[in-house]
Amino acid sequence: MIVSSTEQDIHWMQYAMQLAARAEAAGEVPVGAVLIKDGQVLGEGWNLSICRHDPTAHAEIQAIRQAGSALQNYRMPDCTLYVTLEPCAMCAGALVHSRVQRLVFGATDLKAGACGSVVDLVRHPQLNHQLEVQSGVLAEACAAQLSGFFQKRRAEQKALKQQKNSALPAETQPQISTAAQSGDVAS
Ligand code: ZN
Repeated sequence: MIVSSTEQDIHWMQYAMQLAARAEAAGEVPVGAVLIKDGQVLGEGWNLSICRHDPTAHAEIQAIRQAGSALQNYRMPDCTLYVTLEPCAMCAGALVHSRVQRLVFGATDLKAGACGSVVDLVRHPQLNHQLEVQSGVLAEACAAQLSGFFQKRRAEQKALKQQKNSALPAETQPQISTAAQSGDVAS
């Protein structure tokens, strides 16, 4: 049985933010994720989609794959996934498949979030597994990490454009929010 602990949630969200910083260092949108069981890291990851030319290389997918290897099992009951941004439909689907018990995320993604913002796949009553969800943990810090990246990216693109009069392909910026969603399971 996993007992929700605010202190623990903050600790692991800070850890996920450090992973997100590694994505940012690689020029990727800064999202980090860590999968925890009994206080131990089973898997961790950060966004690598651009570097790997892989739209599935989201932080959550990396963490889930690593945890599957560690557990030698494709099911991950009694585990909690911490991620700095609300998971998308692909990652939410992977969380349901993996039977992760609990999801904790930071900023909400109003454009692509599939855990309450656009749709709610992790608590869909017609799917065969529902997760406990806690949103809004260190939401402001997670949102600031993301918006800081996009601000910097826009400034760089503007400078490049002025220099070369050429545009780089723009990233899709998540529409982030720090507001916790109503109806979340707090324990
Ligand atoms: Zn995703």
